[in-house]
Amino acid sequence: AALAGTASLALTVSACGKESEGSSQSRSEGGTVGIAMPTQSSERWLADGKSVVGGLKKRGYKTKLVYGNDDPKAQLSQIGTLIEQGVDALIIAAIDAKSLNGVLQRASDARIPVISYDRLILGTGNVDYYVSFDNEMVGRIEANYIIEKLGLEKGKGPFNIELFAGSPDDNNTKYFFNGSMALLQPFLDSKQLVVPSRQTGLGQLTTPRWDGPTAQKRMSGLLTRWYVGRTLDAVLSPYDGISRGVLSALEAQGYGSAGKPLPIVTGQDAELPSVKSIIAGRQSQTVYKDVRVLAGAAAWMVDDILRGRATRINDRFSYNDGVKDVPAYLLQPQSIDKTNYEVLVRDGYYTAEELT
Ligand code: BGC
Repeated sequence: AALAGTASLALTVSACGKESEGSSQSRSEGGTVGIAMPTQSSERWLADGKSVVGGLKKRGYKTKLVYGNDDPKAQLSQIGTLIEQGVDALIIAAIDAKSLNGVLQRASDARIPVISYDRLILGTGNVDYYVSFDNEMVGRIEANYIIEKLGLEKGKGPFNIELFAGSPDDNNTKYFFNGSMALLQPFLDSKQLVVPSRQTGLGQLTTPRWDGPTAQKRMSGLLTRWYVGRTLDAVLSPYDGISRGVLSALEAQGYGSAGKPLPIVTGQDAELPSVKSIIAGRQSQTVYKDVRVLAGAAAWMVDDILRGRATRINDRFSYNDGVKDVPAYLLQPQSIDKTNYEVLVRDGYYTAEELT
């Protein structure tokens, strides 16, 4: 019962109203969509870029895809260039949720509709739609995995756990963390879960730019300081890159060898090296978000908007950008571990050969 379903209501809203009827028609035919993605250093964002381009091409659009190298300033200037080049719509996965005010004002002045992709852009009021996964559910799925594997609902414990969170400038970070803590907090209160480092506040746990080596360093430090003569049983990790950093630190200090099993380590994105790690019995779990479906949703949304058509949303009030509630279309994430990773092959997300 830990995973309460979120209400899913199908709503239809009219397109963003930035288009006059006449111009929207001509814009859609052979129009160009600018796509700004955060980084090429993580596999998932490469798949996102490729899939968004594919989805738009199928609908007859040209695309301009740029990657920001995890540098907010670079992304800002890339989006500025796309606006100057006269793109008809923008799909943006922000690096820093709060750094795009000025440039999105320019998009709005140029009547360019903006879709916030995966990560909500904050504070501008110039985002028309948000397309993402249910981010709080991602955090719940990770926590639920730890709860089930440790048998916490059966009263087992106490167990030692350490917590990791995502990048502080990514709006998703607090949704992942809050989703996890909603389920873990009762077990921290009952002392079935103990955090020896006492680092439990989001501000102590974030990992700038989701950087694996940064997480590795923090895990090493925690092990040296708090785990001499103590066993670590679980690590809440919100992203596969962080999980791999955590596992490197653990293995460097003898976890995973005889008599010292690895703790439960969660993750997110079903990145190939992490799925392989799961199959090999190292990382325990990941959260699979089929970015091809996300990309497809962004493509039909843009198409609807540029054609002046009503578009589909299924969430109206969960995501406030500081100015307004942004109408959203949210997809459902799924837990993957060594018992069900074949789902990824069945879905065509990976081939069986890739996983061996
Ligand atoms: C995405 C996650 C991803 C993380 C790091 C988040 O905004 O929602 O899927 O793991 O960024 O790239």
